[in-house]
Amino acid sequence: MPTIQDFQSPITPTWCPGCGDFAIWTAIKQALVQEGFGPMDVALCFDIGCNSNMADKINAYVFKGLHGRVIPLASGISLANKNLPVIAIAGDGGTFDEGMHHFIHAIRSDYNITLILHNNCDFGLTTGQATPTTPIGQKMNSTPFGVVESRLNPTQLALTLGASFVAKAFTGNVTQLISLIRDGIQHKGFSYIEVLQHCPTYNNFQDHKWIAERVYDVKTNNHDTSDLQKAMSLADYSQEKIATGILFKAPNSKDYLNKLDYRKDYKGNLKDEVKKYSIKELAHSFT
Ligand code: SF4
Repeated sequence: MPTIQDFQSPITPTWCPGCGDFAIWTAIKQALVQEGFGPMDVALCFDIGCNSNMADKINAYVFKGLHGRVIPLASGISLANKNLPVIAIAGDGGTFDEGMHHFIHAIRSDYNITLILHNNCDFGLTTGQATPTTPIGQKMNSTPFGVVESRLNPTQLALTLGASFVAKAFTGNVTQLISLIRDGIQHKGFSYIEVLQHCPTYNNFQDHKWIAERVYDVKTNNHDTSDLQKAMSLADYSQEKIATGILFKAPNSKDYLNKLDYRKDYKGNLKDEVKKYSIKELAHSFT
């Protein structure tokens, strides 16, 4: 039986004291152990950012891509090896600035990956610039007179695009986060888990206390997770309280490969199928 020790890396985290990344790092490892996975049973994908500095702090199969490109990286791995659980870990800056189109099309396609989205409303690694989730009017290092662009609501965007699993979590509730990550892994299709986290170094407008005073678990209200309209309204920024937990889960959803009727008789993995074909001739045609 795998243990937390199996995922321990000799490399020590360099995150600022109080950073929410510590909680997400802990929750991912706990969720994997509780699912019975060892380090070789899962693929963890990262791009660039404070969050992605987690890549060498976990002993597992880890892939690191360019900024904002973790979703195509994870999707490709999942398509090639459909039996491998694939988790993409990314931040609000990279995902909703550079990588927005990947977010849109991965949801439309319903690739079977879990996206754990660190949302701290800033670019931390590059010293506190605004991201699309920074509130309007907020002064940041890139916007000393305040953000003028309207604020993106990624939860509502995911719901609008037809995401089959949408959840919200908070780094102050690691038990709930572990449970949501496990639910996301078990879901067949694209699972979006947005984690509200504090960045104590560059975000003084929505700190840990501010978030903690507002969050509640939708389970306490017997929320119907198949009710899309209700999920949209719970995710609205105008709400006084912040709903966490599974906001929406599509009944009877099918992930991308299971939507392809012509592949329904294929039992194997694409990574093994391609070995039957020689690409030598094709490669030569480009020389
Ligand atoms: Fe965490 Fe912010 Fe420090 Fe980055 S800058 S490690 S997000 S507290």
